[in-house]
Amino acid sequence: MTYKRKDGRKNDEMRSPIIAKVGIVPNADGSAMFQIGKTIAIAAVYGPKKMHPQHSQNPERGTLRCTYNMLSFSVEDRIRPGPSRRSTEISKITQWALDPVVMLNNYPNMVVDVHISITQADAGTRCAGINAAAMALAHAGIPMRDMVSSVAVGKMDKTIVLDLDKYEDSEFEDGEGSTDIPMSFTNNGEMTHLQLDGKITKEQLKEAAKMAQKASKEIYEIQKKALKESLGDLK
Ligand code: UDP
Repeated sequence: MTYKRKDGRKNDEMRSPIIAKVGIVPNADGSAMFQIGKTIAIAAVYGPKKMHPQHSQNPERGTLRCTYNMLSFSVEDRIRPGPSRRSTEISKITQWALDPVVMLNNYPNMVVDVHISITQADAGTRCAGINAAAMALAHAGIPMRDMVSSVAVGKMDKTIVLDLDKYEDSEFEDGEGSTDIPMSFTNNGEMTHLQLDGKITKEQLKEAAKMAQKASKEIYEIQKKALKESLGDLK
C-alpha cells in the first residue's frame, strides 16, 4: 500500500509556507525566525562574550552554547516551563549541528550564546530551530564557513516522506512504520547532524538522506534571501 499524505502533499514536498526573517530581536547581536507550516522558531544570538563560569572557559577556542526552549503555549496541551530531558537533548543536538561551521578559533575563553524559542510547535521544531539559529549566527557576524539547513524525513507505512507534520509524526507512533530522521547539511552538502528514531534499511536511509539534502538546498536559498534582505540597500 502506498502512503497518501492527509494534507495532499507529494512525498518529497515540504510544508508551506516557509518563511524566514532576519533581525527580529533588536536587543540581540543577531536574530532570526524560521517558519515551516505551523512550526515557528525564533533564535537570538548574544556574544561573543566572556564565558562564565570561568572553569567552563576553553583557552583554545570560543564555545558555542545553544539553548532550546518550547514555549508553554506552543502546543495545545500546555507544556511545563523550564528545562526538560527533551529540551536538554535538543539544545545539545543543535550545538553539534552548528559547531562544524562556526569559526571560534579567534575567541578563546569566550562564548556565543544562541537562545532558541519555539513559539508554535507542529513537529520539526529542532530543524526549524537549527535553521533560525544558523541565520541568527550569520546576522550576528559570527565567522562561519557555511550555512546550515535542516529538515526531517520520515518513513510512513514503508514510504519515505519529507518534513512530517505533527499528525504524521504521531500517526504511526506505535506502528512498525514509524521513523523520524532529522538531518542538517551545509550548503556544501556535508551532513552535520542526523538522528534516527525507529527502524530503516540501508537503502531507505540513503533515499532519505538524498531527499533531505535536496530539500536543504531549497531551505538554504530561503535563508540566503532573508539574510540579503536584512542588509537592505547595502550594496
Ligand atoms: N510535542 C508536544 N509536547 C511535548 C513535546 C513535543 O506536543 O512536550 C509535539 C510538538 O508538536 C513537537 C512534536 O511533538 O513539534 C514532535 O516532537 P519531537 O520530540 O519529535 O521533536 P521535533 O519534531 O519537534 O523536532
